[in-house]
This record gives sequence, C-alpha cells and structure tokens, in this order.
Amino acid sequence: MDSLVKIYQGKETVHAVEGVNFEIREGEFVSIIGPSGSGKSTILRMIAGFEEPTEGQVVLDRIDITKRPPFDRDTNMMFQDLALFPNYTVSENIEYGPKQDGVSKKERQEMAAEMLDVVQLEGYGDRAIDELSGGEQQRVALARCMVNRPSVVLFDEPLASLDRQLRRQMTTELSDIQNRTGSTFLYVTHNQEVALSASDRVIVLNDGQIEQIGTPDELYHSPETEFVANFVGDMN
Ligand code: ATP
Ligand code: MG
Repeated sequence: MDSLVKIYQGKETVHAVEGVNFEIREGEFVSIIGPSGSGKSTILRMIAGFEEPTEGQVVLDRIDITKRPPFDRDTNMMFQDLALFPNYTVSENIEYGPKQDGVSKKERQEMAAEMLDVVQLEGYGDRAIDELSGGEQQRVALARCMVNRPSVVLFDEPLASLDRQLRRQMTTELSDIQNRTGSTFLYVTHNQEVALSASDRVIVLNDGQIEQIGTPDELYHSPETEFVANFVGDMN
C-alpha cells in the first residue's frame, strides 16, 4: 500500500502553483522548502482539502480524493498557530476530534493516553494548556493532529515560533515520532536546516514550480539549478 499524492494546478489570476506533480511513498518524511510566496501553503491546503485545485488531482492510496472534504481524506494538518483550545485540558484537546466522531468516552481516553505516550507527555492529560511550555504545546497539537492516525500528516511551518534550540529538539522528536508511528509526513518550512536534517526527501519550490526533488544529500551535493544551489547553500 503506498500513499500517492499528485497535484497539477494552475490559477487564472494568481499563478500560486503551476503544474506541480509529485508522489510521496508511505512512511516518508518529505519537506517542501522555498521562498515566501512560492506556493508551499497552497499545495498543503489542496492536499488537506481546504482548497480545490483549478486543475489536476490529489490521489491518496490510488484513490482520487480531489473532491472530498477535509474530514473525509485520511489527512490532517497541523498549523503554525497550533489552534489549541485554551480552556480545555490537554486530554480534552486531544479527544476533541474523536468526540466529534462519536467515539465512546472510554475509547477516547485510551486514544488520548496512547498519543500522550507517543509525544512523551505521559501524565500531562489533566494539565491546562497555559501551564505548558511552547514545546509541550507543540506536542499536544501534534497528538491532537495524529489521534485519528491519519495516513498523511501535513505541517505548515509548525516550529517557526520556537527558538533555534527548541526547534532543533522538536525536529529530532518529530523524526522519532514519525519513525515510531510509520506515518507519512509532509512538512512545509522555509527553514532549510529543519528540512535537510529530518527529511527523507525534499521538494524545492520556486514561484509555484518544482525546481528539484531529492534527498538532502542530492540537493546539497548535486543541485540541478542555480536556484537550488543558492537556496540550499544558504542554510548556514
Ligand atoms: P510563505 O512562506 O510566506 O508562507 P507560501 O510559499 O506558503 O509562502 P502561499 O501562501 O502558498 O505561499 O502563496 C503562494 C502565492 O499565492 C502568493 O503569491 C500568494 O500571494 C498567493 N495566494 C495565497 N493564497 C491566496 C488566496 N487565497 N487568494 C489569492 N492569492 C493567494
Ligand atoms: Mg505559507
């Protein structure tokens, strides 16, 4: 079983994303990097179902999901602002989605406990959100995002607000969590360091088009375009 994602898209007025076509294998950690306005968020939103492509298809597990609403896609997205409910406890935040789906309380509690274990926040279930550090809040948001075990987890600059050290730590943790759960991660960032250290493959986007797709090593040592060489070389 592979998770295939394919997009072709062209807009009349703003050519946000033009003819982008890529596939992601199940269990891969793929990053999308590129300058501001290059179309990274637009691609994620089309995969998540928040935006419909003008042309082209999004395919997951050989099923065309292009016209499906976000809740019917087996994908979930983690946003930069986390969007946690401040008045709910950690567990209540994680259980929110399953509760909406009508999952029983007992089962929800088990799901939340399991996710707290995955993100290494055992025993934090009854804490208030504002009693947590920034990194802990990130992990709660990740647990909430993954509680339904989506095949594909989408991230839009999730670590941008953290300081460099915490960002490094969270990047390592994300990699670990991804390895433990076997989920497929598609990770948007303009931070090359995160992308190159954590990803199996990286997509370099420029002005709505793919410049190159490759392993971090390939991008670093054999950039195919001047743009990739400059952009990846910029990292330190
Ligand atoms: P950043 O790194 O700043 O988040 P990005 O790579 O995520 O940038 P997008 O948000 O995908 O970029 O935007 C790509 C292009 O599409 C930009 O030129 C942007 O102005 C435009 N755009 C994004 N959303 C819309 C919209 N809803 N309507 C019209 N244009 C949009
Ligand atoms: Mg963006």
